[in-house]
Amino acid sequence: MMASLRDGPAVPGSLRQMNRLTILRLLREIGPTTKPALARQSGISRPTTSKVVDDLEASRLAERIGMTQPASNGGKPGAIYRFNAGGVRSGAVFLRVDAVQVAIIDGNGHVHARLDHPLGSDRHPEPVIDLIVTTLKDLLAQLGLMADDLLGVGIGVPGLTSFHKGIVHFAPHLPDWRDVPLSELVAAALGTQVWVDNDCHVQALAERHFGIGQTGRSGANGCEFVSVQSGIGLSAAFYLDGALYRGPGDTAGEIGHMTVQEQGLLCDCGNRGCWETVASITWLVGEACRTSDGTFQMPQWLNVSAMVDHSFHNIRDVAPAIITSCAHAIFCAARAGNPEADALVRRHASHFGVGLANLINMLNPQRIIIWGDSVAGGEVFLETVRKVVGERALMRARENCEIVFTQLDHDVGLIGAGSLALDALFDGLSLESPASRQMV
Ligand SMILES: [Zn+2]
Repeated sequence: MMASLRDGPAVPGSLRQMNRLTILRLLREIGPTTKPALARQSGISRPTTSKVVDDLEASRLAERIGMTQPASNGGKPGAIYRFNAGGVRSGAVFLRVDAVQVAIIDGNGHVHARLDHPLGSDRHPEPVIDLIVTTLKDLLAQLGLMADDLLGVGIGVPGLTSFHKGIVHFAPHLPDWRDVPLSELVAAALGTQVWVDNDCHVQALAERHFGIGQTGRSGANGCEFVSVQSGIGLSAAFYLDGALYRGPGDTAGEIGHMTVQEQGLLCDCGNRGCWETVASITWLVGEACRTSDGTFQMPQWLNVSAMVDHSFHNIRDVAPAIITSCAHAIFCAARAGNPEADALVRRHASHFGVGLANLINMLNPQRIIIWGDSVAGGEVFLETVRKVVGERALMRARENCEIVFTQLDHDVGLIGAGSLALDALFDGLSLESPASRQMV
């Protein structure tokens, strides 16, 4: 059996579970440590602390990693414990508009088994959920595990989600994904708890636990950061005061739709002058292809085969995959020194920097972590963003904030999704049944 916080008589909110949660959190925060130190830190009696640690070790949530040196006054050496991050397992699912990644990961973010599937022509909820469940069962069988061996399953989704209800309210590029009770459906099919969150929130969890959100600039544990998604849509996640801020409706972070030009371009959301109308890669590709008479044509220096025979009157009519291919070709040309591409990327970065300056003035974060397509813009993009922020943000706020690219690789979505189940363990959410969570 793998580890589970639900081992033993699980009475939500019981003193036993509270003690168990307190000691578990301390093991993660201050470990490696000893039973006497845990008792001092927690205020829980020594006998109770000792029993809780033994229980956690028996259920593989804690591990003994050595002994202390004998004390000079003749005191006996004591066992040293820590949270058994390598011994826990979570299911991780990262849904994209064109594919789904599924994995079993441990508490260190290591992937133990993984399968990626492109989504077929039918991307409606039912076939996609069937694919997720089937793939998770295949991976569990591959590792010789049962669903109950998991802390739970975390699912990252490209859309508007309710973390607390486990519902996908809307996924703009997935047909008929409206108010889908994803958590409930997958939990019922697998027999384990399931958490759902949007892709940007999931990215921030990965940064906090395994990326450059782990430490502050002074090396302090954790930092106040904003992770910002660049690409066709722009969004953000706020990791403030030691926690991911989701907001009462779980929608915090839709910064792509903050107005930066009152009479600006029409946005997909119906508003005018949203930040993403000028700072997305859709704008970048549109500007590259815009001709003097207002029509669109791919310039000769931009050679993207999918675009050659593609005529269009509005950049918003172009398929997302083609936009992405063109944007990456522009970033590549800029990095190779093409002057037109270089100028376009600097303008794109300048618009991006305006939005970041607003964010920095608003939230005073220690770090802004940029991820997504525009990371391919490299130093040209990043230098320009920093320059614009330097010109526009208030001095005290900008001096305390560094702007960096993510350093996590393409597994980041999976690792972040798996972190949903890990965080639920430490937030005590694993004590609640899926039904009681839906009452929130
Ligand atoms: Zn908008």
